[in-house]
Amino acid sequence: MIRLEGATLLTPDERIDHAVLVLDGERIAYAGPAQGAPSAAPEDEIEHVPGRVIIPGFVNAHTHLAMQILRGVADDVPLMPWLEEHVWPIEARMTPEDILQGTRLALLEAVAAGVTCVNDMYGSMDRVAEAIGESGIRGMITQGLIGAQDAERESLRRGVALHERWQGALGGRIQVALGPHAPYTCPPDYLREVADYAAALSAPVHIHLAETRGETEELARQGTSPARVLTQSGLSRQHVIAAHMVFPGDGDIGILASLSLGVAHCPVSNLKLGCGFAPTRRLRDAGVPVGIGSDGAASANLLDPFLSMKAAAWIAKGVAQDAAALTARDVLRMATREGAIALGWPRLGALERGYLADLVVVDLRGYRLQPVFDPYSALVYTATSRDVERVYASGRLIYREGHHLVVDAQDVLASARQAAERIAGQQLL
Ligand SMILES: [Zn+2]
Repeated sequence: MIRLEGATLLTPDERIDHAVLVLDGERIAYAGPAQGAPSAAPEDEIEHVPGRVIIPGFVNAHTHLAMQILRGVADDVPLMPWLEEHVWPIEARMTPEDILQGTRLALLEAVAAGVTCVNDMYGSMDRVAEAIGESGIRGMITQGLIGAQDAERESLRRGVALHERWQGALGGRIQVALGPHAPYTCPPDYLREVADYAAALSAPVHIHLAETRGETEELARQGTSPARVLTQSGLSRQHVIAAHMVFPGDGDIGILASLSLGVAHCPVSNLKLGCGFAPTRRLRDAGVPVGIGSDGAASANLLDPFLSMKAAAWIAKGVAQDAAALTARDVLRMATREGAIALGWPRLGALERGYLADLVVVDLRGYRLQPVFDPYSALVYTATSRDVERVYASGRLIYREGHHLVVDAQDVLASARQAAERIAGQQLL
């Protein structure tokens, strides 16, 4: 077993100083005060980590990892022209190899920032699953489905086949959802068909919903709303992960709260694409679990959960004109445990016996962080991903002090550069 001794365990609910954390394979065997900890066995691997805090691994509740290869390809453009004039034409030229290399590049950044679970939607998802497997972390994956491009139902078949191949694979590290892209790309009859497949597979549903005001207004013109799209199509028979939810329709929050559903709040992407401010406080007050996602790097540029936590807190406070609207503990919960609940992933996102041993050791001793009156404040409002010292996923140390331990970062970088230059058709900086 691995024993981490001397750190402060920091979860949204409690802070335990001078703690002991014991990892038994992929699970946490003990997390608590030193007195009360099981005694160490001679074969245990003991790590002394005083001065650090240990938090659950971050759950990135909505992303498109492969878009890392498109980072910076089109900035400062609103969502619809960004998609239609820039992203979709380039994506049409991307090969499965480009997707693999983009995903591997994204996972370098994600792991180094303490992300141990991702909820990813894209194409060529077998390559994405391979990359997640290689990285050591876990992920919920889904083939993105666009109704208008799917007359032959080829994408839907691929999404179903993905479920058959990968659901529960790699010792449960891979889960598979069905992913209708959004109401504006998937007409109602297509959504009903996806819902039937999701029910037959008992698969969760991952969808972009209410990302812009225009989208919600268009649904209102059709006599419906983002939440009603879920209930009318039957998608809400399954657990739903709704990405964005910036503009719920009238009465939607009550409907969302009555469903098995989590929202993936993507504050950085929503700000950068000029979409607006998701009503996280109202959603959470109604009982809707709200996780935090980065969205893809083509929109958000960074997959950094520390940045997303700050943005989530700042937006909620600014919009409510209330500094208490979302506290550091609230935001830490959203980025970890609440994200796992939003995904419907059991036994994930907490430092408790029996939970999956996904955790992050953060070093708060540096001059950028000192003094630390309150570790929650330091972690959420001051720390950056550069303060991540170690990352454990499924009980395995995968990152330590700037070094990736299970992937060859130089190889990933070289392959990603090649892929990006092929897509760009020119040498890049
Ligand atoms: Zn997205």
